[in-house]
Amino acid sequence: MKTRTRWSAAPGILRGLRKDPLSSDHALWNSWEKGVKPNQVFGALTHSKQRAAVQKGCQFFTTYFLRYSGFAFLISALLALAAPTVSAQSSTLPKKPTPPHIVRPAPKPVIAPDLAERFAKFKPIHIAFDSSTLTDKEQKMVAKLVDAAGLLDCIYWRQSDPDGLKLYLSLADSKKPQDQMLREYLKINGGRYDLIDDNKPFVGTAPAPPGRGFFPWDLTRAEFDSYVSAHPDQKAALYGPQTIVLRPLIENGPPPANANELEAMPYHTAFREFLVPAARDLRQAAELSDDPAFVKFLQLRAHALLTDNYWDSDIAWLDLKNPKFDIIFAPYETYLDGLLGVKTSYGASVMIRNDAESKKLEMFQKYVPQLQESLPLAAADLPSKRGKQSPMEVVDAIYRSGDLLHGYQAVADNLPNDPRIHEQKGSKKIFWKNFLDARVNFIILPIAQRLMPEDQAKRVTGEGLLDFIILHEISHGLGPAYARTAAGKTDIREAIGPQYSALEEAKADITGMMCVKWLVDHGAIPKEKLNDIYASFLGETFRTIRFGIAEAHGQGAMMEFSYLTEQGAIRRDPSTGLYSADFDRMPGAIASLAKELLEQEATGDRARTESWFKKYAVMPSELSAALAKGSDIPVDVDPDFDFHPPLR
Ligand SMILES: [Zn+2]
Repeated sequence: MKTRTRWSAAPGILRGLRKDPLSSDHALWNSWEKGVKPNQVFGALTHSKQRAAVQKGCQFFTTYFLRYSGFAFLISALLALAAPTVSAQSSTLPKKPTPPHIVRPAPKPVIAPDLAERFAKFKPIHIAFDSSTLTDKEQKMVAKLVDAAGLLDCIYWRQSDPDGLKLYLSLADSKKPQDQMLREYLKINGGRYDLIDDNKPFVGTAPAPPGRGFFPWDLTRAEFDSYVSAHPDQKAALYGPQTIVLRPLIENGPPPANANELEAMPYHTAFREFLVPAARDLRQAAELSDDPAFVKFLQLRAHALLTDNYWDSDIAWLDLKNPKFDIIFAPYETYLDGLLGVKTSYGASVMIRNDAESKKLEMFQKYVPQLQESLPLAAADLPSKRGKQSPMEVVDAIYRSGDLLHGYQAVADNLPNDPRIHEQKGSKKIFWKNFLDARVNFIILPIAQRLMPEDQAKRVTGEGLLDFIILHEISHGLGPAYARTAAGKTDIREAIGPQYSALEEAKADITGMMCVKWLVDHGAIPKEKLNDIYASFLGETFRTIRFGIAEAHGQGAMMEFSYLTEQGAIRRDPSTGLYSADFDRMPGAIASLAKELLEQEATGDRARTESWFKKYAVMPSELSAALAKGSDIPVDVDPDFDFHPPLR
């Protein structure tokens, strides 16, 4: 075991960024806690071991920043970018020089020259919180949930880019437009690396460390692997989805003998400073709720935050029945971890049920077993969906944080990710109507207006797109469960290989559109809406393809577009260069493509899938030229909520 001193660091280095909750002189902490004294916060933690754990967790950041996060680089960045703050910060610099072998090279900080252009790709929008229909108690509960979500954002930044957070905070008071733009772009990305441009740095030139804030910044995969094979007893902890990996701090002099040891620290220890008040917020929100199932979930989730065991609370989350309020509140996604792809980042969303759309969704769900049976495959390839129902909600997000705030704004999600939960209980699908509307209004409609004739572009609607997206998500669960190959029952992903993701996304798109037609034919969707859904589908296809066809969704959409064009269901007018859907040909072309894609999955025929995508997932030059003309249209929205919990 490590001794405390070996893992501690010079105090004061991170003043202004983090706070030891056991002392009481910190403005940010005090304003955040609003009258709650820090010793009350940790009042329950009287056991000396627990207190030591708290202290260790707090010291983790000082240790961690010093050794691993390019402190020298940050200082240069601050000198260049936030001159007025430097004198205040400089008293906190380490007195002794840090040994050169543990500090990243300090390049002259460079702000990407095209920052303004990048920034313009995000349309700022206001996400309003309408409290008029909520009781006083409900409004108080919402405030507690938002506060808790804000605390998860503090953790997310530390996982994503601790130095980026410091830079972000240092720019808070600057009135320079350049600083304000940089600050907002840091917020959009939750760090200095461009999430929509392969994580390329827009501050400085050093690439993002693949292990982000989860690992020592200079740890390589080879070093990690060889350490793990030499220390198999530590493997589970080091690979844990809810642990960070640390190395001992080197202060001065030659590196100690254990300089290359690795240690896993659980999130609930490392981030205790934020998780303890977040858990308290959730418990207080529970006291304000009149929904017993939601109360139970909040209490279990509060417990999970402090133990890293999310199982019971995930089950309770899936047991919620049409809740008026809901939250996503956990470390679920692994996108940030480029080293192992296993460490989860925290994310949160506070959501209010969208009643009208949720009722429509319930109606779609009723038909799931029949939709499955209607697909053009042998019955043996269509496992029954009767009696199996996974929860779905249409909601409006009134606040987002962590990985749900930074980067692209999700319009649908399927959680939790734990496959054991999927097996035992299923998962919940969430659709965000207010974010979907924003996507339609600010991105898809402007693209449609450039690429489609006016009469079709005006058929692109938020409602039409929601129907398509809901049926896309439902269709991920339709079709065969296994491939039947010569070798017997095989996992479809395994049988198809690397092309699987694009195939599965395209299957969900096209089977979903086939289900739309089935629902229209059976009176579940009004007939007059069908063409709006086709037009909305085409508009969304353009949005997906404009990001390129390297990634699964883009590749799938490109293939669909080419096939539907070949079948005459999408046509380009050579005189105007505009694309339109042929509403008469759409149903037949979609049905034949659905049959093809479902058969590829049912047979697990890798060669068939590969040659299919090779033929169709190709961008025609006139389409890439048309998309290039819309390069001034935003790629996503940058939401500003009515709530601004402090980031620290
Ligand atoms: Zn999908």
